Amino acid sequence: MSQEREALPLSLLNDYFYCPRRAALKVVEGWRSANEHTERGDIVHEHSDLAGYEVVKGVMLLRALPVFSERLGLSGKCDIVEAEFRSASNVKFEISNLKSLKPVEFKVGCRREFENDDAQLCAQALCLEEMFNVSVPRGAVFHAQSKRRRDVEFNAALRGRTEQAVTELRAFLPQSEMSDLRFEIPKLPPARYIAGRCEECSLFEICLPKATGADNRAERLTRELFQI
Ligand code: SF4
Repeated sequence: MSQEREALPLSLLNDYFYCPRRAALKVVEGWRSANEHTERGDIVHEHSDLAGYEVVKGVMLLRALPVFSERLGLSGKCDIVEAEFRSASNVKFEISNLKSLKPVEFKVGCRREFENDDAQLCAQALCLEEMFNVSVPRGAVFHAQSKRRRDVEFNAALRGRTEQAVTELRAFLPQSEMSDLRFEIPKLPPARYIAGRCEECSLFEICLPKATGADNRAERLTRELFQI
């Protein structure tokens, strides 16, 4: 019996580059705990959650555009996609008239460069290219706090890292054997406490990286006791 591949949410790429264990916890356990950072992020996203479009200086701004990639098994939504057309006097969304597409992602905080934001944006570009058969060479991250925009180029290295991350994320999905209802749950990546990063993680209380991390005290003592 053929099994349909489950589409991974685009936002998981952001989690994966932040910390693979965080992404795995969300995939395997379905855990998502709101903290101040995710709540602020949700508020920033609110205004871009209303689907629609407007035209500004000959550029169409598409809000909350659903996107997907069958090739990669991804789906999600772009906050904003800027669409430019070959004929500036004919600003209608027709694929034959499409010149370029540029995804723009809204983020909380000041203008800073994060690989996780860039990979999430790159995955959006890969979806847009597959859906509209148009090249998407760059996008932008808009930082709400500083109200500044940072351009991101989707070069070969970023595309490669993004696709590799999708493959690794997919390996976290529980492999099911529907015939006898046995599920094989993949092993979670070990916690690795990093000061600053872990305190800002909304899964901190669930993950307990200081207690469960590979170099946690209990494990060290056990190794010393049994000389392993
Ligand atoms: S608390 Fe730290 S180690 Fe645990 S999931 Fe979050 S970022 Fe990763």
